[in-house]
Amino acid sequence: MGKLPAVSPKSAKPNQSPAQRALARLGLVRDIDLALHLPLRYEDETRITPIRNAREGEVAQIEGTVLDCSVQLRPRRQLVVVLDDGTGRCELRFFSFYPSQQKTMAVGERLRARGEVRGGFWGRQMLHPAFRKAEGPLPAALTPVYPSTAQLPQAYLRRAVAMALTRVRLDETLAPEWPVPPLAVHGQNGHLHIWSLREALLFLHHPAPDVALATLEDHSHPAWQRLKAEELLAQQLSQCRSRAERARLRAPVLAPGDGAGSLHAGLMAALPFALTGAQQRVGREIAHDLARPQPMHRLLQGDVGAGKTVVAALAAARAMDAGWQCALMAPTEILASQHFAKLVQWLQPLLQARGQCVAWLVGGQKKKERATALEAIAQGAAALVVGTHAVIQQQVRFARLGLAVIDEQHRFGVAQRLALRQKTAGGEMEPHLLMMTATPIPRTLAMSYYADLDVSTLDELPPGRTPVVTRLIADSRRDEVIARLAQQVARGRQAYWVCPLIEESEALDLTNATATHAELAEALPGASVGLLHSRMPAGEKQAVMEGFKAGRTAVLVSTTVIEVGVDVPNASLMVIDHAERFGLSQLHQLRGRVGRGAAASACVLLYARGESGHLAQAARERLKAMLQTHDGFEIARRDLDIRGPGEFLGARQSGDAMLRFADLAQDGALLDWARAVAPQMLARYPALAQAHIERWLGGRAEFLKA
Ligand code: ADP
Ligand code: MG
Repeated sequence: MGKLPAVSPKSAKPNQSPAQRALARLGLVRDIDLALHLPLRYEDETRITPIRNAREGEVAQIEGTVLDCSVQLRPRRQLVVVLDDGTGRCELRFFSFYPSQQKTMAVGERLRARGEVRGGFWGRQMLHPAFRKAEGPLPAALTPVYPSTAQLPQAYLRRAVAMALTRVRLDETLAPEWPVPPLAVHGQNGHLHIWSLREALLFLHHPAPDVALATLEDHSHPAWQRLKAEELLAQQLSQCRSRAERARLRAPVLAPGDGAGSLHAGLMAALPFALTGAQQRVGREIAHDLARPQPMHRLLQGDVGAGKTVVAALAAARAMDAGWQCALMAPTEILASQHFAKLVQWLQPLLQARGQCVAWLVGGQKKKERATALEAIAQGAAALVVGTHAVIQQQVRFARLGLAVIDEQHRFGVAQRLALRQKTAGGEMEPHLLMMTATPIPRTLAMSYYADLDVSTLDELPPGRTPVVTRLIADSRRDEVIARLAQQVARGRQAYWVCPLIEESEALDLTNATATHAELAEALPGASVGLLHSRMPAGEKQAVMEGFKAGRTAVLVSTTVIEVGVDVPNASLMVIDHAERFGLSQLHQLRGRVGRGAAASACVLLYARGESGHLAQAARERLKAMLQTHDGFEIARRDLDIRGPGEFLGARQSGDAMLRFADLAQDGALLDWARAVAPQMLARYPALAQAHIERWLGGRAEFLKA
C-alpha cells in the first residue's frame, strides 16, 4: 500500500495553519502579493545606544550583560532584569512572562533590548521591551513593521515577505518612453536616479537607516512614488480595458426623430417647466450615446433637486420612440413609486394612444398584479417598467429592452448592474445603461475609479429655488426648535424630523423615533404627525408617504434617511436630530429635501455633545461644512477629505479598483500620468499591459472570492 499522493496546494487548504489562513484573508496569496504588502512603519535596530546616552522618552536599542534576573512580588508580580553595558545600567520589567524567557535572560547572558527608556527614581527602565540574545551582526537596514492581524505574528509575516522577495519576479512592465514624472530624483551625489520596481520594493521593505523617515511616512520618497505610479497605472489599464471591451459590444441604435407625434415631443410639451441649460446639455449627451451601436455606460450626477428624473424620462421616451423598452430601477419602493407616479402622469396618456403602458414591479406585489406586469413586459406592451430590485429578477423577461436606468446607482451592487445589462435586447446586444447619483463624485475619483464610465453633470439647479437657511443648534435648545416647528405648522407648512439610525441596535433606533414621534405629537396638538420607519411594511410606508405628500400630515418623523428621497415642495423645515451622527453627504441629501418650493426654508442641525462633553473632530468638520456651503460638489470634496474614497464607491469598493497606496488628494500628477499612459500602453504593448494588470490586481479576484 502506497502513501496517499501528495496534496496540491489548493486541496491543502483545510490543513493551513491559522497564520496561513490569516495571510490568505489579507489577500497575501501570491509572492507578488506579499512583495506588495508594504510596511506601515519601521523600527531601527541597526544601532546600539550606550545605556549612559539613552535619554528618557526615547526608543532605544541597548546591549549588555544580565547582572540580575529575579521575580519581585511587590507592588505586583513582575520579572525584573538588570542589564549592564559598562556605561550604565537599565532595568527591564515584565508583568507577564514565561519560564523560557527567564532562561533567555539568565544572569550572565548578553541581551539586546529595544523599548522606550524611562527615567524615574530607580534609574533607567524599560517596560516590556522587545529583547533577544545578542548574537550576530546588527541588521544593516531598518526593520519593517507590516499591517497585520491578531492571528498573524509580525515575525511570521516578516519571514513570509522576505522569502517572497527572494522568489518573486519583478520584471519591468513600464516602457522607458513613459517615465513616471517625479521619479527622476537625484541620488546621493546629484546623479539622476530612476527607481526600478525591484529597487523600489526592496528599498521599501528594508530601507537604509540613513533615509529621511518622514519621506517614507508621507509616501513622498521616490520609491513610494514609483509604487503609487504603478498602482494607478494598473487601475487605469484595467478600466481602459473594460471600456475597450465594451466598445466591442453591440446595442440597439436608438435614434428616433423627436418630431411631432413622438413621445419625446409629447413629453416636452407636457412638462410644466422649461428644461435648464444643464438638462438640455445632458439630454444631448445621452441622445448622442443612444444613437450609437455600442452600449452607453453613462453616469448622470447632479445635486439633490437638480432634476435628474426628467432627464431620465426623456431618455426613456427616446428608447420607446425607437420601438424599444426602457426599465427604471430605484433602490427603495418609495423612491420607485415616486418615479412611477411621475412617469405615469407624464407618459401614460401618450402611451395609451399607442396601446402601450407603464408597468410596476416590486417585491411584495400581489401575485395576479405581478403576473399581469410580467406578461405585459414579455409581450412588449409595457414600454416602460418601473420598480425596485424586482426588475432584475430571473423571471422578468423583456421583449426588447433598449435602455436601463438605475437611480441612486451606488446603492446597487456590481452584480445587480450586470444582471440588468444581461436582460438583453435580444440577440447579441446589450441595453444602454444610464446610472444616476445625487452624490456628486469628486473629479479625481471620477477620473480614477470611474474612468470606465462617461460622466454627465447637472451643474445647475432649476430656477426659483429659495436658498435653505442652515442652523446649528445644541440639543439643550430642543424646546425652542419644537416651538419654531409649531409656528411653521400653524402657517400651513410641513416639516421633516429625521432621527438617526443607530447601527448597533435597530430596536433602539425604533424606540428613539417612536419617542420623538410621541413627543412631537404632544407638543403639536391639532397637527397630524406621521412616523416612517425602516422596518415598517412597504404598504404602510406608502400610506404614510402619501399622507405627507397630500399635505394631510404636517410633520413626518423618520429614521430612514434614504426613503426621504422624496419630493414634497410644501415642506420647508428639515430638523435633523443628532446631526453629529450623520455622514456629510447624508446631511446634504437631507437638506436638499427642503427649499423645493417658493417658501423660505430652513434646515436645523440639532447636535448633542458626547459623554466627554465634546464633539468628535470629524463630526465638527461635517457640521461646519454644512454651515459653510450648499454646493454639492464642495460637500463631496470635503466628504472625501474626511472619510476617504470608500464611501463614494459603494459596491464598487469591493471591486478591483481600490487604491492601497496612492492618495488621490496628493497624487494628482501621478494620476494624470497614468491616465495618459494607459491607453497608449494598451495599444502598443498589450502583453506588458496584461502582465501589469495581473501583477497588481490578479490577486484581488482570489481575495474577493475568499
Ligand atoms: P433629483 O435630481 O434630485 O432626482 P428631481 O428629478 O426629483 O431631482 O427634481 C426635483 C424637482 O424639480 C421636481 O419637482 C421636478 O419636477 C422639478 N424640476 C425638474 N426640472 C425642472 C426645471 N427645469 N424647472 C423647474 N422644475 C424642475
Ligand atoms: Mg431623484
